[in-house]
Amino acid sequence: MIIVLFGKPGAGKGTQAPLLAKTLNVPSLATGDVLRAARRAGTALGREAQGFMDRGALVPDSVILGILREELAQPAYANGVILDGAVRTVPQAEGLRTMLGSLGRKVDVVLALDIDNEEIVRRLSSRTVCEKCQTPYTGRDPGSECEKCGGTLIRRKDDEPEAVRTRLEVYDTETAPVLDWYRKAGDSVAVVDGAGPVDEVGKRILNALGQGKP
Ligand SMILES: [Zn+2]
Repeated sequence: MIIVLFGKPGAGKGTQAPLLAKTLNVPSLATGDVLRAARRAGTALGREAQGFMDRGALVPDSVILGILREELAQPAYANGVILDGAVRTVPQAEGLRTMLGSLGRKVDVVLALDIDNEEIVRRLSSRTVCEKCQTPYTGRDPGSECEKCGGTLIRRKDDEPEAVRTRLEVYDTETAPVLDWYRKAGDSVAVVDGAGPVDEVGKRILNALGQGKP
């Protein structure tokens, strides 16, 4: 089963992907992690990606898809994968379809976690991180002390309400049309309410996938 996981920044993808992976017994794969791993390993495509980044340029979709393809060809993904962050634009969705096709595979379901924009602003602005050891916290004010190392908690610039609204606008203009693209292509698109406790959302996801326990 190949699942493309979608969702606004702060919708809980990063929390739900590993949980879903465990339940379905298929690995989850975050594009950012694969890209970093390829650069560290110094593969040909990893070096190419590094070259773009060294110049301060975006890594082109073709390079990212190539790196994903090499990863997905590994036996670990024979039963499926949950792709997190693989598709943000329509051209990337088209690229992914072509790439998977070359492996004789296709996306089985597109899973979108939906959540109210203002709820996301609230969620992300309640998030802090230790500036020393990077441990994330929820509901603790900037300036508090880290329980682990005594460092100071800060709010990431990315998580400031203004920045969050900008990221949500980018999502709406770039990413939302991708769901329409998948629907028009006749693919299965499941939209799941991402608000509420983690285990509740997890149950909704399994129900949407037809994997919920009766
Ligand atoms: Zn710390």
